[in-house]
Amino acid sequence: WKNAPPNLRAIAMLGRMHGTREFTIYEDERVTFGAWFKAVAALAHEFQARGIKKGDRIALAMRNLPEWPVVFFASVTIGAICVPLNAWWTGPELAYGLANSGTRLLVCDDERWERIAPHREDCLELETVLVSRADESQEGAERLEDVIGTPPQYADLPQRELPEIDIAPDDDATIFYTSGTTGNPKGALGTHRNLCTNILSSAYNAACAVLRRGEALPEPQPKTVLNVIPLFHVTACSAGLMGHIAAGNTMVFMHKWDPVKAFQIIEREKVNATGGVPTIAWQLLEHPERVNYDLSSLEAVAYGGAPAAPDLVRKIRDVFGALPGNGWGMTETMATVTGHSSEDYLNRPESCGPPVAVADLKIMSEDGEREMPVGEVGELWARGPMVVKGYWNNPDATAATFTEGWVKTGDLARLDEEGFCYIVDRAKDMVIRGGENIYSSEVENVLYDHPAVTDAALIGLPHKQLGEVPAAVVHCAPGHQASEDELKSWVAGRLAKFKVPERVVFSKETLPRNANGKILKKDLAILFDEK
Ligand code: ATP
Ligand code: MG
Repeated sequence: WKNAPPNLRAIAMLGRMHGTREFTIYEDERVTFGAWFKAVAALAHEFQARGIKKGDRIALAMRNLPEWPVVFFASVTIGAICVPLNAWWTGPELAYGLANSGTRLLVCDDERWERIAPHREDCLELETVLVSRADESQEGAERLEDVIGTPPQYADLPQRELPEIDIAPDDDATIFYTSGTTGNPKGALGTHRNLCTNILSSAYNAACAVLRRGEALPEPQPKTVLNVIPLFHVTACSAGLMGHIAAGNTMVFMHKWDPVKAFQIIEREKVNATGGVPTIAWQLLEHPERVNYDLSSLEAVAYGGAPAAPDLVRKIRDVFGALPGNGWGMTETMATVTGHSSEDYLNRPESCGPPVAVADLKIMSEDGEREMPVGEVGELWARGPMVVKGYWNNPDATAATFTEGWVKTGDLARLDEEGFCYIVDRAKDMVIRGGENIYSSEVENVLYDHPAVTDAALIGLPHKQLGEVPAAVVHCAPGHQASEDELKSWVAGRLAKFKVPERVVFSKETLPRNANGKILKKDLAILFDEK
């Protein structure tokens, strides 16, 4: 039992068993599972030699490079806490993450190091920096390459075991920062068990889906997955990477998201699954060059992390002939809490699915005192082995968010009779017009149904008498147009009068989103300022 699951050493060892199968593909660099494990073991020993102890923080700030899963596993398999920092952050934000987590050792790529270097004094405990992909030594930093070599050469490293160290399932493993959609990013402290949970949930859910369809269980067969979302989000790391290692799936990384490059990769590598966030799925569907590529290898396009327009699901099935999937989760749950796919999803396109086997959901009144009846909207609470212990270094936020194993999600949702969950809004985004609640998703979904509209967000504008009134920002598909009045009457024909946006503005671009595909509603109010 001592070194048996659930912990991330076991996942690393499972990965090694896939041997010569390709694990990561990045441009022309192909790394097998065996070579990856050699690099993990080499770096883990190096970290130990540098005095890194159990519980010390090692931060990781880079693009989705093949080095990412090497550094991650070298950290967590010796009991250190890995802190994947958001690669989109600016210098001061990165410095905040390093200081907040009390990081001792940072591994980053050269772009991140250039951003951090001027703020290094603010990161009090930072002792060592290893930079990857730097042409020459950067001042104050060593090269990762000099320690373990480069990804194409990992195969030449000697075969070594991981350093001996006991890790219990509930030992700390990671600090992932929330997206900061509603305030300052908070560091969610994840355990080894939290990270292993997704593998169990998804295997169980996939098997049950087969059972419901009355089919025979397919032979387990490794897949090729195009991973387009950043690994510093739990969706890609905890829900993606962990399961792909266990299953022996090949992950293709992209330097930067680009739909045409994605088509080329899907065709060339015969990719079986992709997705990530709804925006990515839309861009693949709507790109005019899609028809020039053979995408017939695609079996599944799944996403989560942000609200998805209901017509996305049918389009994925019709256009790609692939199984659509949706999942709800948050950094505080280390990814998936609900999972939705195939016929269930096609029949309930507005839901994000039922809870995974190991999760419980309940809908609570605003004051947290009473459970709401089936069908009524309240705050979604979630419980299960995927829920983190709390926030790092933030007892107030921990006390406000976690109670007796439940995480209060801050999302407003309802459950139907069969337990399917429907997210209607974030509590902070709900528009309250003269005491009447307006859930963004309801109005946004009606706007999405309009043939010209491809992107929509509802926000609240301050109003003297009513407190707030709803207003919409809309983006139309190229070659399509709609007027403000037309969209107002479109909504008025479908929803109660008080939900009709008082104003509609058109954005030439698709709406601004963060790295996890969420519309940055905080940035939209400015569009309504009178000129
Ligand atoms: P912060 O907590 O810092 O404001 P954040 O909540 O955006 O940022 P994440 O943990 O990345 O940080 O995102 C979790 C949130 O994403 C959920 O609370 C929910 O609002 C939204 N979300 C996730 N999955 C889905 C989904 N399938 N459908 C709708 N919304 C989703
Ligand atoms: Mg949140």
